[in-house]
Amino acid sequence: MLGRENIEFIECREENDFIPKIPDKKLDIIYLCSPNNPTGVTMSKHDLEKWVNYARENEAIILFDSVYEVFIKDKDIPHSIYEIEGAKEVAIEFRSYSKLAGFTGVRCSFMVLPKELKIECNSRKIELNELWRKRQNTKFGATSYIAQKGAEAVYSEEGQKEIKENIDYYLKNAKYMRENLSKAGFTVYGGESSPYILLKSPKNEKSWDFFDALLEKGNVITTPRFRVWR
Ligand SMILES: *Cc1c(COP(=O)(O)O)cnc(C)c1O
Repeated sequence: MLGRENIEFIECREENDFIPKIPDKKLDIIYLCSPNNPTGVTMSKHDLEKWVNYARENEAIILFDSVYEVFIKDKDIPHSIYEIEGAKEVAIEFRSYSKLAGFTGVRCSFMVLPKELKIECNSRKIELNELWRKRQNTKFGATSYIAQKGAEAVYSEEGQKEIKENIDYYLKNAKYMRENLSKAGFTVYGGESSPYILLKSPKNEKSWDFFDALLEKGNVITTPRFRVWR
């Protein structure tokens, strides 16, 4: 059974620019998200290589959430984990139309489960892709037709143009906030190749206290740090 006691939080701290730190023990399944929600930080090719190597050495599986891929503008940031050699043997990548095309709530996404990814089962190696296909065929009720038609339109010339305009608008806002918050003396992360900005509370106030102060004194709504299981 998977319970909280079996979940490890990967260290993601300011000292490491919020890049998840390779653990010193064996984990089985690793969830990574880049560009990240909520930190806005993106992982470089080198960062991802370290994780792919870790997964290969530890027979771990990486669940790579690249839902914010469309925001990547920096040419050195990989758009897919499969840009890393050997990733096909250890990584499952998933994407959603939620942030790409404003589909939040519409429920349409896809994932890549390479045939190279094998797991040991009763002392033989089997393709996880095969197991997943069986699971989907029996349990998944399919994406609604209207959502599929919407997703199809994302790839049309007009769809691509509209999406680009929307994403560029978010990125422009993020850049504006990043630049001006920095100028005003705040420490900020993200906001480049990502719609999110992580702001350090200036006097190390607790994020919920800072959130309250911004709301009450400045009438500004922000998102305090997510509650974690600790
Ligand atoms: C929004 C989001 C998703 C996509 O979720 P959907 O269920 O497809 O809407 C995935 N991962 C992260 C981190 C997100 O912020």
